[in-house]
Amino acid sequence: MFQTFEDQFQDIRDAVRALCNDFPAEYHRKIDEARAYPEEFVDALTKAGWMAALIPEEYGGSGLGLTEASVIMEEINRSGGNSGACHGQMYNMNTLVRHGSEEQRKRYLPKIATGELRLQSMGVTEPTTGTDTTQLKTTAVKKGDKYVINGQKVWISRVQHSDLMILLARTTPLSEVRKKSEGLSIFIVDIKEAMKNGMEVRPILNMVNHETNELFFDNLEIPEENLIGEEGKGFKYILTGLNAERTLIAAECIGDGYWFTEKVVAYTKERKVFGRPIGQNQGVQFPISEAFIEIEAANLMRYEACRLYDAHKDCGAQANMAKYLAAKASWEAANACLQFHGGFGFACEYDVERKFRETRLYQVAPISTNLILSYVAEHILGLPRSF
Ligand SMILES: Cc1cc2nc3c(=O)[nH]c(=O)nc-3n(C[C@H](O)[C@H](O)[C@H](O)COP(=O)(O)OP(=O)(O)OC[C@H]3O[C@@H](n4cnc5c(N)ncnc54)[C@H](O)[C@@H]3O)c2cc1C
Repeated sequence: MFQTFEDQFQDIRDAVRALCNDFPAEYHRKIDEARAYPEEFVDALTKAGWMAALIPEEYGGSGLGLTEASVIMEEINRSGGNSGACHGQMYNMNTLVRHGSEEQRKRYLPKIATGELRLQSMGVTEPTTGTDTTQLKTTAVKKGDKYVINGQKVWISRVQHSDLMILLARTTPLSEVRKKSEGLSIFIVDIKEAMKNGMEVRPILNMVNHETNELFFDNLEIPEENLIGEEGKGFKYILTGLNAERTLIAAECIGDGYWFTEKVVAYTKERKVFGRPIGQNQGVQFPISEAFIEIEAANLMRYEACRLYDAHKDCGAQANMAKYLAAKASWEAANACLQFHGGFGFACEYDVERKFRETRLYQVAPISTNLILSYVAEHILGLPRSF
């Protein structure tokens, strides 16, 4: 364990680590091989209350902040697991807690806290518009006391392992709004009801074993009371979830980064070639040190993003920058770890190739590195808008 600055969350870390120890590397390796979902692991996290960390106490949760939630996610990845199986509940939660009505909070939160319901899915991305979210084509048209949904989504994770999904759709045509971010709304969708009633789910097999799906909506009717917040303001609300998602994923990458560092340090101290440990060579030491320095720097930005988020302040810049720094640092640590394991890095039993694939995702999703650079250029540096 490498610790270069003080941490106030040792109790949370110890408790999450103790739970993760019951699910060692072999467990996650087998799940990966079988392309399965870590059901028992997610159940254990739910029973221990970790999946309800962000639910306020009055609704049965522990009322913790994004900071603590990020420590939970970091520890899962640091232990060799992958928070990707369950992080959706964390980043979706504040969208419901902060923007949902009192009635919605009472209806869903206590059941999510006990594990009776899971809120693991968020449907934003579409096949024809991709990163250009405000151009999305899925529509929600009000008819009487219902909204009728038509359209298509892609890459939607954990649909088979969630009861509820937060869905972003256009309620006012693009041609009738002042700004393209207006006229979008978010809804809470009961997944099982929707599957009987106009939503088709087609799984997509993918490299990192996230359970991702294409969704097709053909006149899916959902009750008007499932609208979250005000109609037309959904893009603003979904940003609450997206900033939380970026910050949590930064923490997961930091957990990965520590995992790779610990693994490669242990290996390079032991492995002897040319009559000495390979870790004695500076050509081996320097890439590991470099990645570690970057992980530590990313960690500081992650805590700053969490601090602002928990204080209900704008954290768009910090959430994006934390995600950028952490995803880059974990990828560099992953490369060093794979490289210095030599051929053994490719053997599944070392878990390096699995974690390597898992951490690579975060250069692309949930937001690609290029889009973060473009956000910084336009919104922080004031450079001319490029699209
Ligand atoms: C495993 C996995 C799980 C996912 N889970 C979910 C989910 O649960 N819910 C959900 O809504 N979405 C989900 N996604 C979707 C994810 O958020 C998108 O894949 C991501 O936002 C990129 O969108 P895209 O794939 O359409 O890429 P595109 O928008 O087609 O972009 C492709 C690449 O082109 C480059 N690019 C695009 N535009 C620009 C530009 N203007 N300037 C410079 N470079 C540019 C970027 O490098 C980008 O990576 C998931 C994706 C994956 C792979």
